[in-house]
Amino acid sequence: MNRNKSFENNKPLIYLIATPIGNLGEMSKRALEVLEDMDVIAAEDTRNTYSLLSHYGIKKELFSLREHNEIEASEHLLRLAKNGKKVAYVSDAGYPGISDPGYLLVKKAREEGVAVSTVSGSCAFINALVASGLPTDHFYFYGFLSKKGNEAKKALEQLVDRSETLLFYESPHQIEETIKLLFGVFGDRKCVIARELTKLNEEYISGTLSELVKIDFKTIKGEIVLVLEGQSQENVLISDEKIQEKLKFYMSLGVTEKAAIQIAVAELQVPKNRVYKLAQELK
Ligand code: SAM
Repeated sequence: MNRNKSFENNKPLIYLIATPIGNLGEMSKRALEVLEDMDVIAAEDTRNTYSLLSHYGIKKELFSLREHNEIEASEHLLRLAKNGKKVAYVSDAGYPGISDPGYLLVKKAREEGVAVSTVSGSCAFINALVASGLPTDHFYFYGFLSKKGNEAKKALEQLVDRSETLLFYESPHQIEETIKLLFGVFGDRKCVIARELTKLNEEYISGTLSELVKIDFKTIKGEIVLVLEGQSQENVLISDEKIQEKLKFYMSLGVTEKAAIQIAVAELQVPKNRVYKLAQELK
């Protein structure tokens, strides 16, 4: 066990400071005060952080702590903290450690008894979730899916039975593929594309996946969070037997297996991969 008070005199402390996800106005008074008070700031991208600090007239010594040098740079920051320097870490946007570097730094700090404290700010998936209209009581944040289609599909299949609202980070280059993949794996669930949050072109596109696959994806630009409805109670309650009965019924009418699967998915609103597996079991 390790109890560690964040604010005790002369104890080494690392601040993790959340930065705006688009709108520069979302920098709190406290974040600016803490940044101003630091001796050294580690940044995911020193140029970005330099511009952010310059915007607020703050001049500080910066060094880079990014994915490629995360271990060495984290050790350097910890050494500075232990030598009595006031230090902080900021990533490019939002919270460090959320689809950004930071975790290894914090893990090492905790292991070595160095205190870690956060300065709050925006986080893209929290903004998207709370404004999506999908349930906020329980949620599951996945982050970025693999760019390899088969790996992404496997990861999604693991999430099919989760009842929580699901959250993904996505890029405009992958969004079309991902929406199609979500439709294939999850069936016709509700989904919200939340893009350019806090910026001038902020937009929420809500619909079912069968509607969203028809979007003109050229219009889906900028930064994106996908918010997907969890497995609904009705879906959970539809038993395997009921799905197989439906398949057998349509196949007995002479419909092909493929068409029977499509009909069952549409009628029962259950994920296609579940119906497909149950159709294989009938053979
Ligand atoms: N650390 C950040 C956070 O706390 O949200 C996330 C950093 S991650 C590298 C960047 C991804 O977050 C983007 O590709 C996008 O999926 C999402 N994102 C960041 N800013 C966003 C915004 N303004 N609107 C929508 N999504 C955003």
